[in-house]
Amino acid sequence: PAGTKQIERVHSMTEHRNVIVVGSGPAGYTAALYTARADLAPLVFEGSQYGGALMNTTEVENFPGFPDGIMGPQLMDHIRTQAERFGAELVADDVVSVDLAGPVKTVRTLDGEYTADAVVLAMGSAYRKLGITREDELSGRGVSWCATCDGFFFRDKDIAVVGGGDTAMEEATFLTRFAKSVTIVHRRDSLRASAIMAERAEKDPKITFLWNSEVVDIHGQGSVSGLHVRDTTTGAERDLEVGGLFIAIGHEPRSELVVGQVELDDEGYVLTGEGTLTNLPGVFAAGDLVDHTYRQAITAAGTGCQAALDAERYLAGLP
Ligand code: FAD
Repeated sequence: PAGTKQIERVHSMTEHRNVIVVGSGPAGYTAALYTARADLAPLVFEGSQYGGALMNTTEVENFPGFPDGIMGPQLMDHIRTQAERFGAELVADDVVSVDLAGPVKTVRTLDGEYTADAVVLAMGSAYRKLGITREDELSGRGVSWCATCDGFFFRDKDIAVVGGGDTAMEEATFLTRFAKSVTIVHRRDSLRASAIMAERAEKDPKITFLWNSEVVDIHGQGSVSGLHVRDTTTGAERDLEVGGLFIAIGHEPRSELVVGQVELDDEGYVLTGEGTLTNLPGVFAAGDLVDHTYRQAITAAGTGCQAALDAERYLAGLP
């Protein structure tokens, strides 16, 4: 991306920093902004796909400070520029391995090795996809993974939600505030969701269930006009006319980099104790990488700020 500085890399030499940030979503860039303004000259590994999850969407209407909304990529460019303005050094490389246990942390990319006293982990989490054609093309244009983010755009529309767990039930129930109707498309004939969440959805007059069904194609040019759905038991196919598709089949936190070093929970999210502290001194974690519950740009930015302040405090206490 424009503005990315190429660091002089001398392969045999290791660059030492106060703090390294891994990740470039709202959490990573906010941690970078705060540590840069604390004069810690952070080195930020943005990954090959800089800017995080909001680069895949169109309008963001719920990030405070933008009363008319802002396009996701533009918001991320603003936060990125703001971090850079105060001296954050941004590198568009993926971190491929880390050693985080000792007082000096090592971070490696494919062509360099770097050390730091503190590391902020902010690699985010990926929404699980259906794996069908046009899912990415129509992301932010009728295909969504977040009812809180996008429900408002679907007023008076017929929409579909894919999934059978608690998240799917919660998304579907929330969406009935805006939608004319919500069809829950589920691969099986029973739900994985907890009884209370399932019951709430089943009782809702706006919600209907399409059992034993999977979405095989999405119709529409520039926006969603319908779905092609296949019966998982008979193989029969049909069209479902909807103006939106919410995919609620789970998330995968991007924690593979730190497996075996930083403590993770059963689902692979990084476990934090007080604030953003992980089990390893000098290693902090923020954003969707730690967050089962909120998964918003503003909450990611908020914990990114916390991680920076926690790192500053940690560094100030070092001998
Ligand atoms: P992410 O944004 O996921 O960023 C993580 C970054 O780290 C990525 O760029 C990734 O490439 C990088 N990374 C990962 N591994 C490595 C590595 N090994 N080395 C270097 N870099 C690495 N939220 C809202 O509040 N409002 C909305 O309107 C909204 N709309 C959304 C629309 C869509 C389509 C999606 C997918 C999400 C939306 N969200 C919205 C949710 C929001 O985007 C996330 O909650 C937020 O981006 C999480 O921020 P993060 O910094 O934790 O992680």
